[in-house]
Amino acid sequence: MRISARANSLKPSSTVAVMNRAKALKAQGVDVLNFSAGEPDFNSPQRAKDAAIAAISANQTRYIETAGDLASRELIAGFLRERNRIPGVTADHVIITSGVKMALYMAFQCLFDVPAGDQEAQELLLPVPAWVSFAPMAQLAGAKVVELPTTPESDFKITPEQLRGAISPRSRALLINSPSNPCSTMYTPDELRALAEVVAEASRTVAPDLVIVSDELYQNIVFGDVPFASIGSFASVSERTITINGPGKSFAMTGWRLGWASGSGEFGKKVVSAMTKLQGQSTTCVPAFCLAGLREALSHCQSDLEVMRAAFAVRGALMYDLLRAVPGVKVARPMGAFYVFPDISAHLHRTSAGGRLLSGAADFAAALLDEQQVAVVPGEDFGSMGHRHVRMSFACGEDQIRKGIARLNAFIAGLR
Ligand code: PMP
Repeated sequence: MRISARANSLKPSSTVAVMNRAKALKAQGVDVLNFSAGEPDFNSPQRAKDAAIAAISANQTRYIETAGDLASRELIAGFLRERNRIPGVTADHVIITSGVKMALYMAFQCLFDVPAGDQEAQELLLPVPAWVSFAPMAQLAGAKVVELPTTPESDFKITPEQLRGAISPRSRALLINSPSNPCSTMYTPDELRALAEVVAEASRTVAPDLVIVSDELYQNIVFGDVPFASIGSFASVSERTITINGPGKSFAMTGWRLGWASGSGEFGKKVVSAMTKLQGQSTTCVPAFCLAGLREALSHCQSDLEVMRAAFAVRGALMYDLLRAVPGVKVARPMGAFYVFPDISAHLHRTSAGGRLLSGAADFAAALLDEQQVAVVPGEDFGSMGHRHVRMSFACGEDQIRKGIARLNAFIAGLR
């Protein structure tokens, strides 16, 4: 029996694949140092856990409103207005989803049309390197992905001129992810404003339906000189921006599977209402007891968040200092999130001590895991030039970072 071409065309997530392989080796007793994790190594805040347990005991175990209960949506809308400075966000502009992944998935489903006949596909403008799931999710929705390449020298950021050059009448959405997975670099507020201006200008001429999708999942994990800003806070684009966020990374609540999407103005209401229809025909709603924990986290767990942020700041600085001293490795300074995306291309086309020819990052990562028991994610699936990079997470202890970089040095010293 056949499987649909749509499902067949999907590649499994490379980050999940490495994580599973590292976990399997660990289960066999191998001393693996795992740098592939895309989640904090902290526990969820105790108050959030207690609130969720109390909610279960109080029988908050039934279906709730599709978009999430009013109190939770009002709380999120308030944060978006006050902290993110996005004007005009109300509870009607917010939908709570099963993780940020579902928020993005549904947003793309509500933006892109599947091209009919010989129609051209609508485009997602995707600055790369980019997190591995943006492109497949957009493609599933019928979009064509147009990559906007960036380099470590420019902190992996696109320029307004580059964006202007990429916009066409087919452009439907621009993806912004700052702080970024996998690069951990950030746009300054002025840089975001300049990109917003380009979108606003294009919307008056070639691309009237152009929308910004801003994935702000790492908003609270910021430790460089660049302050966080939401691109939706700029009046020129606030009513054409879908802002997406969730508690997974900030509050160490990845397994709670919560996220949200929001908009502003007429379009904001329209897109949230379309996503609510889609949620009603798919996952129905998120669990009420998880929302009890979420409200507690958002309202009362700032100190937990701060402890984690401070730890990531120290680990990020350590990782950066050790990594840039590794021969032939180029790395941008992390400013937020908990990743680095070093360029290891100086070592490609060499042979490892174990005899493997390193043709790209996938070989580099496989040999590093087999020969030094260090798990990193190969960069291929993060977009063009990715084969020159690997992603390393520093959501792990300082000891592991020191040991891991020592093993990386040993691996590189053994290359021929
Ligand atoms: N967006 C980015 C940029 C991410 O890094 C991740 C998780 N790795 C997600 C979305 C998915 O988040 P969630 O677990 O809330 O679905």
